[in-house]
Amino acid sequence: MSIKETFEKKGTWELVYVVGFYIPIMRTISDLVNNSIERIPLAIIGFILSVALSFGIYRIVKTKTNFTKSIVIIIGVVAISFLSIALQSYAKKVTHEICEICGFISVDKETHECQICVSKEWNDKLMTGYAGKEEYIKEEQLFWFSTESSFEKVNFYLPDGEKNEVNFLKSENWKPLVTEKEVIEYSKKDWRQ
Ligand SMILES: [Zn+2]
Repeated sequence: MSIKETFEKKGTWELVYVVGFYIPIMRTISDLVNNSIERIPLAIIGFILSVALSFGIYRIVKTKTNFTKSIVIIIGVVAISFLSIALQSYAKKVTHEICEICGFISVDKETHECQICVSKEWNDKLMTGYAGKEEYIKEEQLFWFSTESSFEKVNFYLPDGEKNEVNFLKSENWKPLVTEKEVIEYSKKDWRQ
């Protein structure tokens, strides 16, 4: 059977549409509920959404040419992907706040822990070993921004790609409480060269 014949068979296009929409929809959903137990019901919701969307859109292009059908599915998938990026950054803003230590908007509002530098948010009641919040932040910053050798530069603003796989944004208002000089002084003792 040729490709053309395959696409003329009943149900092939419908299947392409369902699968085409299901992938970006599910990717959006699983990114949004990262590490959450609600994955299974959400997968079902994602599937129902994809089927509904596919059939809704397919109904409009049903009588159109294969070329139109392909263009429509491609535009649909791209549109969902863009929507997904916007939705994710919105969701992160709602569920995370700025980390005073590393400057990313990455402190989980529920656990009070930063997803980038893994520091805990300052807490007067629990963190009794410090003179105050400022001392705590400075100490954590010295550790987080410390360098491994004399060749490495202190960089407070460069987004840390490796530790930032989930794309948190760096806050534009954040400024470190420690200076570059202080970080170098702190790091020196552990330098290998
Ligand atoms: Zn942090």
